Amino acid sequence: MHFHEDMDKTKADGAKWLHVDIMDGHFVPNMSFGYAWVKSMRKITDLVLDVHLMIDTPIKYAEEFCKAGADYLTIHVEADTPENVMATLEKIRSLGVKPGIVVKPKTPAEAIAPYLDKVDLVLVMTVEPGFGGQKFMADQMDKVAQLREWVDDINPDCHIEVDGGVDANTCAVCKESGADVLVAGSAYFKATDRTAF
Ligand code: ZN
Repeated sequence: MHFHEDMDKTKADGAKWLHVDIMDGHFVPNMSFGYAWVKSMRKITDLVLDVHLMIDTPIKYAEEFCKAGADYLTIHVEADTPENVMATLEKIRSLGVKPGIVVKPKTPAEAIAPYLDKVDLVLVMTVEPGFGGQKFMADQMDKVAQLREWVDDINPDCHIEVDGGVDANTCAVCKESGADVLVAGSAYFKATDRTAF
């Protein structure tokens, strides 16, 4: 109920991006925001809106999220057929938004290899998607390092992002493994000194 205020505080604390988790109740059991929410956020912040679609068949919804004001729009490789995943990434790009691809913990890095030259962001989940406050899965760091190596070869401007269980302790290993964008939810909002976080 204090979203506007929290967004401003987050910016003042040094955040450069806002990561928005969109859940549909199908791809993940939980539900969260929709287009209208992203549109409202766009009106009140100039921070980068990094929208993570945890939804099935994102090709049906990508355009609306692009129009709503996402800067990055990231889709799950597990959420559709390879043909549709490719088509969705191309559609996002054609609408002037930066496309991203994301893998769940049990999905190997190889699954997103065909898309690495088509995206501006690769997201590695370090918890099972769908709920906040889960424990960081350090075994995903090999995947981050592998993807960093591949991306540096073929698409060096592409970001590698880590999402899930990132806190003041786990952030270092993410960076060392090659991630350059770290998403923190629970750890940041529960920190006694958010600026220090
Ligand atoms: Zn996310």
